[in-house]
Amino acid sequence: MQFYNGPAPVSHVDNNDVEHPHAAFCSQLESEVLDRRDSLSEFFASQSGEQTVLGSSADIKETILGPIEHLYLSNCAHVNKPYQLAKEDPSVAGSIGDSKKALLQFMIAATPNDQVLQDILARYDHHLSNMVSSFETHLVGDHSVMVEHIDKVPDTVNPVKAKLAYVQVPKSDKTVLNLVWKFEVEMQDNWYEASVSAIAPHRIISVVDWASDSPLPKQPETKGPATYNVYAWGINDPAEGNRTLQKEYYDALASPVGWHSLPYANDPQSARLRRNKADFWRNTSTTLGNNVIAHEDWEGQNSWLDNYRPDAGKDMIFDYKYKPKVTDDGDALDEAKKYINSTVTQLFYTSNMVHDLYYRYGFDEVSGNFQQYNFGRGGEENDAVIANAQDGSGYNNANFMTPPDGQNGRCRMYLWSTANPYRDGDLEAGIVIHELSHGLSTRLTGGPANSGCLGWGEPGGMGEGWGDFLATMIRSTSTYSDYPMGAWAANKETGIRNFIYSLNETINPSTYKTLDKPGYWGVHAIGEVWAEILWIVSQQLINKHGYTDTLFPPASLENGTVPEGDFYRPAEYTSTGQRKPLIPRHGNSLIVQLVLNGMKLQQCRPSFFDARDAIIQADQILTGGENFCELWKGFSERGLGPDARVEGRTPWGGGIRTNDYAVPLACKEQKIPGIPKPGNPKEPEDVMFYVEPGVTRKTSCKNRHAKAA
Ligand SMILES: [Zn+2]
Repeated sequence: MQFYNGPAPVSHVDNNDVEHPHAAFCSQLESEVLDRRDSLSEFFASQSGEQTVLGSSADIKETILGPIEHLYLSNCAHVNKPYQLAKEDPSVAGSIGDSKKALLQFMIAATPNDQVLQDILARYDHHLSNMVSSFETHLVGDHSVMVEHIDKVPDTVNPVKAKLAYVQVPKSDKTVLNLVWKFEVEMQDNWYEASVSAIAPHRIISVVDWASDSPLPKQPETKGPATYNVYAWGINDPAEGNRTLQKEYYDALASPVGWHSLPYANDPQSARLRRNKADFWRNTSTTLGNNVIAHEDWEGQNSWLDNYRPDAGKDMIFDYKYKPKVTDDGDALDEAKKYINSTVTQLFYTSNMVHDLYYRYGFDEVSGNFQQYNFGRGGEENDAVIANAQDGSGYNNANFMTPPDGQNGRCRMYLWSTANPYRDGDLEAGIVIHELSHGLSTRLTGGPANSGCLGWGEPGGMGEGWGDFLATMIRSTSTYSDYPMGAWAANKETGIRNFIYSLNETINPSTYKTLDKPGYWGVHAIGEVWAEILWIVSQQLINKHGYTDTLFPPASLENGTVPEGDFYRPAEYTSTGQRKPLIPRHGNSLIVQLVLNGMKLQQCRPSFFDARDAIIQADQILTGGENFCELWKGFSERGLGPDARVEGRTPWGGGIRTNDYAVPLACKEQKIPGIPKPGNPKEPEDVMFYVEPGVTRKTSCKNRHAKAA
């Protein structure tokens, strides 16, 4: 902070003391533009005859010159005009107290529009007499400060506020006081706070453009946390329970400011709006937040910014009716649309829960997660998930598009015309989780900047499989059950895959070799084999480590440390006293952790073998390999043992596979049940292990997940 250390203020300041920082700034900017133009010409001259790999010359010119030229043209195009005018005719500058003349001088310098400039110059007196003043007084302390509002100023969109003030201006090695007009000038693309010399109004002392770097006008205060009438986390679909009021989850680590706040600067709506010097955060009362931006997309188009979203008002209660009726077939769509508020609310809720859950297992900013704002924690920003409810571009499906980190993921959820009334995919958590898991696996595999690692063949198939597996793990409970995928939406007991996920070989016979079959070139068929294998593996770990009723780790402490609680094993420390990564205590949380860690470890375009090895390696790193044999037993149970082979595989699929049901030699000594060895069913340790549906496992977690009836 600089304090005035020059001469005592006087009512009249010598004209020679009046500085002109705006002109100085513009002349610096001008020489920078000229310099860059020169070096560009040299660059292109040196490149002639050679191929340039950087891009087209227009691109290069735009990159190097574009922003600064724009800055110059929008701020300085007419900066010297008032100065010239004042030289030609001193009377146009006006005198102290003549705010309108000073303002019109400023507008000449400020307008980026040549036509406006010419009009002001041609009809100077007309504009001057056209401007209308009104005054308001504000009591600040014991001074009464007069504020003038000047209306009908050319090229402005609101009345200009004007007041007289002193500002300090550096001059040589001291500062001098200048008497200025302070104007707040709101234009189409700029919002200037300008100080113009009151003595010599052709001199602009300082200009700040609020439009480019300041937040929006304040929103009405919202009373968080929000409440949503939804199928609670853990209820897979409307057949499993009823809607209840759920609170904004507000995982302080994953979503430090909740689900409805984001900086104005990262809010795609605010970016277009005029801003004021106000709060940093924008609090929304709609389904637009930092992690998820959810809305209807009945048109099925790519535009989404202005699509309809429910608005819960300042109380933040998203409580909407959901009672679709049986209609004539032709009216089923209109009937479904009536419940858009509850369906968007559900999509927003489920998607945010998925964000927070995956965050806690390591899908954070650096790993390429989906957030508009990253809280200074690394990674690319402005890439929340755009979630389209009732997307009109299709029926009976859903999809997800994952561009590289820093670009919004897009989730499209469809209506299902499988029943009357239509079933809404947004209400089936498993489908939403499946889609969002595409974003997870795509960003983690091969790094967040690479979105091309899970296309076609085995890699693409596993992209599908992880989604089914995670959706199934999330809906599972301490009482073992088989699960179908998408059964409610599809209105089909066995769901949308060939088989339901089961430990029982007769219910789901998928093995590695199943991929050879006709019909298994498609990613979804490949995916369900992978999901089935992971399901088997997960039960091995659950059998060994028990089951936790919530996959959510405990909330972090005030200092940001995550307590172990009952969720993690007691923390271990390195020799230098660093806390090692916490290890989930139970089988279901541990497998989720290993699967996510494996995604980070595996190479781009992984095969089944690569992904299997990455999970085993993840366990080696996290636990020192204590689950080596359980993991191998799980994989080998469906033919993915160490000697499984494939020949003639193409990047798109195909090939001849050989199953291996054995485990590595080191594991053969251990008597752990669960390895099927076809042809040797009598040996006790070879009996195929599976838990009958309905058998309750031992669980060490006291807080059983409460489900609605
Ligand atoms: Zn999919």
